[in-house]
Amino acid sequence: MDVNRLVSRRGMVAAALASAVPLSVVAWHFLPRITSGQSASTDAGGQSVDVPIETWNPFVRVNLTPTPLTDLTVSIDGPFRILAPGSPRILVQSGSVTDAVVSVEGTGIRFGDEVLQISQIEIVSARSPAIWVGRNQYRGSIRIYRRPGGRLIAVNLLPLEEYLASVVNSEMPATFPDEAREAQAIAARTYVLSQMKGHPQFDVYATSRSQKYLGYQYRDDEGRRLAGETPGSRDIVSRTAGIVCTWEGKVFTTWYTAVCGGRTIRGRSVFTDAVPAIASVQCDWCREAERYRWTSTVQLGRITEALQEHLAIEKAEFGQLKSLQPAFGDEGDLPFYMVSDGVSTKKIAGTILRHLLPIGTLSSPRFTTEIDGNEVRFSGAGHGHGVGFCQWGSRGLALAGRSALEILQYYYPGSATVRLRG
Ligand SMILES: [Zn+2]
Repeated sequence: MDVNRLVSRRGMVAAALASAVPLSVVAWHFLPRITSGQSASTDAGGQSVDVPIETWNPFVRVNLTPTPLTDLTVSIDGPFRILAPGSPRILVQSGSVTDAVVSVEGTGIRFGDEVLQISQIEIVSARSPAIWVGRNQYRGSIRIYRRPGGRLIAVNLLPLEEYLASVVNSEMPATFPDEAREAQAIAARTYVLSQMKGHPQFDVYATSRSQKYLGYQYRDDEGRRLAGETPGSRDIVSRTAGIVCTWEGKVFTTWYTAVCGGRTIRGRSVFTDAVPAIASVQCDWCREAERYRWTSTVQLGRITEALQEHLAIEKAEFGQLKSLQPAFGDEGDLPFYMVSDGVSTKKIAGTILRHLLPIGTLSSPRFTTEIDGNEVRFSGAGHGHGVGFCQWGSRGLALAGRSALEILQYYYPGSATVRLRG
């Protein structure tokens, strides 16, 4: 499809894509839900998919607890049932509940006053959204699984398109232009489909480890309710319904980053699953972002300690850091650095240095450094891993009149964008 022919006017993206020919059309149908469906209905009916049927599951399973917890607080606004996943057996049935503490007890799970002799449960509400886990309320149902060490994880099951209505807002400000948000929705849809790899309990995390997902609504520190999804985000999702990016006929991991800082990093140099479409492209479209350029200062002792700890894993001795210089390499690849204590020199990736220091110290893996007395001063570009679709860059491109499809082509050159349909 010639995306250059597409105009950027609002509403034209979906119309243009409606005539796109899917690479392969497979009859669409829902996979059966494991529990009797009493909660969210889906408006995704009538679509078809161009991904193999075994990988098409319109229900997304989102791990809400990347770090397993000893207890969870659950509230449910209205009638609900607790079931054993995969079985119609009803363990609990009630009108509603407020602040029920869920924890591990013996060989089972405690839900408020009830102890259920089972290692996993599914909470299904009569209406959706209804279920709160901690400060967030979600559409769909919630599964809770026991984990070793007396811990639990919570997984939200809900239709893909409903999940995306929250991801679009969680990942991108509502003030960004519609075309940027449409591109975000398509990238997020493709990403989650690419992550459905048959994990027994969940497909993605609710954090930036996968993509941010705040649910239907949430409470802030002051207890105020804030919207996770809005009519605007639902509109963006329905306008792009079923549209995905493909490479050689398959959805791919559509890596994306907040601010690339001037040039995106070639995917293959960072992630083993990156297809060639995750190329390195010039992008100063993100120049209005706060962290297009950034600086930070770290105590020499702090970074020396971090390097020593890291190098100890490979049994390498390292004294006090004396120099830290960018290593020679292709400017499109992940930056590497040469670190030296004056005796030995080691080569280390920007991503590793970034993770060795406290979160937020180095906003991106691309920087220059200067050692001044007891301090190391960093001057860097961008925010995030720097790979793929640049979220702030998509804003700049949209403001310059580019359509959602043109934006995706810019960051994933050579990929196709197709609408899944029946
Ligand atoms: Zn950029």
